[in-house]
Amino acid sequence: MSEPKTESSKEVTQATRKKPPVWALVVILLFAGLLSYVAFRVLTYVPPDVDPPVITLNGEPEVEIALGSETPYQDAGATAFDERDGELEATTTLPEMDIWRAGEYEIKYAATDASGNLAEASRKVKIVAPAPVEGAVYLTFDDGPSEHTARLLDILKKYDVKATFFVVGREMDDVIKRAYDEGHSIGLHTFSHNYAHIYQSTSTFFDDLYAIQNKVKDITGYSSTLMRFPGGSSNTVSALYDGGTRIMSRLVKEVEARGFKYFDWNISSGDAGGATTSEEVYNNVTSRLGPGEWVVLQHDTQGFSVDAVERIIQFGKRNGYQFKALTMESSGAWHGVRN
Ligand SMILES: [Zn+2]
Repeated sequence: MSEPKTESSKEVTQATRKKPPVWALVVILLFAGLLSYVAFRVLTYVPPDVDPPVITLNGEPEVEIALGSETPYQDAGATAFDERDGELEATTTLPEMDIWRAGEYEIKYAATDASGNLAEASRKVKIVAPAPVEGAVYLTFDDGPSEHTARLLDILKKYDVKATFFVVGREMDDVIKRAYDEGHSIGLHTFSHNYAHIYQSTSTFFDDLYAIQNKVKDITGYSSTLMRFPGGSSNTVSALYDGGTRIMSRLVKEVEARGFKYFDWNISSGDAGGATTSEEVYNNVTSRLGPGEWVVLQHDTQGFSVDAVERIIQFGKRNGYQFKALTMESSGAWHGVRN
């Protein structure tokens, strides 16, 4: 009987309890979401990688190599390690090295980690020349130019060696021009190189000498006064043509009186007789070298002799010899006059 009453009073109680407004639920949800987002970010936070990798060189940071070393330079490389990324690859940049030129080179290494941090390192490589030998070596080439001369000029250029060309009258003006432009000395060896003609008299000799001097001047713009007698100043072949007038005795004085300077040689390569191979030419020249002034006679008309030049230069450079071109100031090598 009283039961329904009780029921209805319960309903009243529920009806009077306040429901939370919808906006509050949204706020609570948003707040909870924000809170868990922040918690997630805090827990999973990784600081950015600002440290570049560390490069470690294999081998020494400074390496010395002897000029002309026969063993090619082998770089030992480098390793790179990054705290975050572990072992990385280090790239190596090798400069172009000329083993025949003393100098300093830098080998560069670089490594980049996953965050783009770059590390760089370098190694110094020094090409060291031997102690210089006192004096000089003058490579001289007679009777050219010839079809071998351009090749010879390439070799001299490669090793930055200046030489002297005692030229005759040939239609190879471009080769003479090139030799001159590349810093070699152009000497005169008479136009015809014809003993029977040039050693007849002082006038036939000087006509011929001036002819080649003019030709060289036309080609280079330079009036050369360096000269070499065909056969050398000690030749006796001139006695066959001078009618017993001892022309060489007169010519050596006369060329100087006319402002020329003549050069003989004190090392003969033997390429005009005796030597017939590059090996012999090489041995004839290098076995004579030592401290002092050396004027080496070769002929750029002989292919096998030209073939020996590169090894002669390599020998010289490895052993501290200074190659030079003859000038009017050079001390030369003079033979005694024999006619
Ligand atoms: Zn000659």
